[in-house]
Amino acid sequence: MIEKTLGNKKVYELSKEECEKLLKAADEAMKNTFPKSNDGFAVALMTKSGNIYIGVSYKSDTETLTMHSEATALAHAAIHGEKEIVAITGPNCHICKQLIYESSLCSGIDIVVVIEEDGKIKQIPISKTMPYPWPRECMKIL
Ligand SMILES: [Zn+2]
Repeated sequence: MIEKTLGNKKVYELSKEECEKLLKAADEAMKNTFPKSNDGFAVALMTKSGNIYIGVSYKSDTETLTMHSEATALAHAAIHGEKEIVAITGPNCHICKQLIYESSLCSGIDIVVVIEEDGKIKQIPISKTMPYPWPRECMKIL
């Protein structure tokens, strides 16, 4: 991955191989969706150290308590002490975009969303998917 500076944030451009590895990890994680395999969503993210963590959707009968794969992936990385996320597979729902964006605000890294569309891999900084973002800065006490 290549580190670049974008305003007051850092953004990491992944190599084609890193993107393919991330997309493959997300595909393979589909077997771990809860409660049934291949019924829900799965993502993979890459941290600044190059580690990959997967996340799968975890359905609740209440629907409200269902956890999206992006949330479980971010938590998965945090459990391992990794909070500097550089990329995550997409597309992502708007709730998850907010969560990814807040992670980005706190780390100072504009997380890229890796998408495969029409056979082409795209890397879109999360800030580009949030035209009128809230909040403007990390509001968590670090
Ligand atoms: Zn979501």
